[in-house]
Amino acid sequence: MIQRDTKKDFPIFGKWKSKGKPLIYLDSAATTQKPQEVIAALDEYYENYNANVHRGAYELSQIATDMYEEARAKVASFINSARPESIVFTRNATESLNLVAYAWGLNNLHEGDEVILSDMEHHSNLVPWHIISRHTGAVLKFIRMSSDYRLDLQSLKDNLGPKTKMVSVVHVSNVLGTINPVKEICRMAHEAGALAMVDGAQSAPHMPVDVRDIGCDFYALSGHKMCGPTGIGALYAKHELLEKMDPFLGGGEMINEVFPTTSNYARPPYKFEAGTPNIAGAVGLKAAISYLEKIGMQNVEDHEIELGDYAEKRLADVDGIRIFRPETTGTGVISFTVEGVHPHDISTILDAEGIAIRAGHHCAQPLMRKLQVQSTARASFYLYNDKSDVEALAAALEKGIAIFRPKKKAAPEQTVRDAR
Ligand code: PMP
Repeated sequence: MIQRDTKKDFPIFGKWKSKGKPLIYLDSAATTQKPQEVIAALDEYYENYNANVHRGAYELSQIATDMYEEARAKVASFINSARPESIVFTRNATESLNLVAYAWGLNNLHEGDEVILSDMEHHSNLVPWHIISRHTGAVLKFIRMSSDYRLDLQSLKDNLGPKTKMVSVVHVSNVLGTINPVKEICRMAHEAGALAMVDGAQSAPHMPVDVRDIGCDFYALSGHKMCGPTGIGALYAKHELLEKMDPFLGGGEMINEVFPTTSNYARPPYKFEAGTPNIAGAVGLKAAISYLEKIGMQNVEDHEIELGDYAEKRLADVDGIRIFRPETTGTGVISFTVEGVHPHDISTILDAEGIAIRAGHHCAQPLMRKLQVQSTARASFYLYNDKSDVEALAAALEKGIAIFRPKKKAAPEQTVRDAR
């Protein structure tokens, strides 16, 4: 466990009161809170160094450019990319995944080619492929999830074949917390001659990530889920692939020469960064990574797994609860339903106690159908949560449910008797 009180690093915990109560934030899978160092880095950039990048010959622009490029190098070292030029800045993981679907998929997928996804994908790794398959005639296949909420690699094996061109899977499920064996999945994809992409939106923030060890061709992440600002994300890609791919968006920054009817492009990663980028966002992301590195990603992972395990045990006593979490490969994400109480009502019940959780389909409607639910409640823990937050969650849930469905146990007997 992280022993230090990291809540102190995040100003919002000292400021925001929800219904007069201190904030218990259990929605970090949606977005994380921001430490003072990140907020200060954004202020510092705008107060002292704001200028557009890669354009100006003047000193201020050169400093802004250096700061932006240092951020790229920081992201590269954080996920162990061999070179900073393999990192393309995007708005978020969604844009990174779309970039690959469009810029790689449109030129490389043809009628009957196959793309393999999985049963537990976020819409961000589904909908872009729906669009691209409509354009190209490519067919989508799925790695099935077994009853223990893990991916069944046999079904990947069964699906892989000469037509497979891409395998794209989520590293950590935002609903189940399952850590998928992406290294093995990438190896299997490569053996079949396909490329492999990993949606790292829920792994980069929560565990050490080494893209070279995983062996993926593409890896997507979002800054706002790892203590960074919103509006900045990154795509890691093997450089030789970026070199061959067409741009995703066209405009300033990404060109080499432009003529009235044609143009050629800058080298990667700039080829994929059309227009003025989110410079302050990149600077903020660098500060976020420095903060995470100070804590240590292994510590973050251990802390979250311990909290997840603790929460699973603690919540198991709640009357009517069903928890959707794998036995051995879960993280700090706990999705659950409570019999007779709609997930949105659970969220409202908890909000009354100052506890923020998420309820809904979590942008994973196909997974919800597999689980045979419309929605779940989801508590997601991060480095600033501790066991007292879990206790507060369990107590508020028990109290709220008791008020919401009074004398539940007596009710069915009553109904049965009345029916007779
Ligand atoms: N993939 C996963 C697994 C996610 O959890 C999310 C965010 N919930 C995304 C992709 C998309 O992230 P963003 O909205 O930051 O683009």
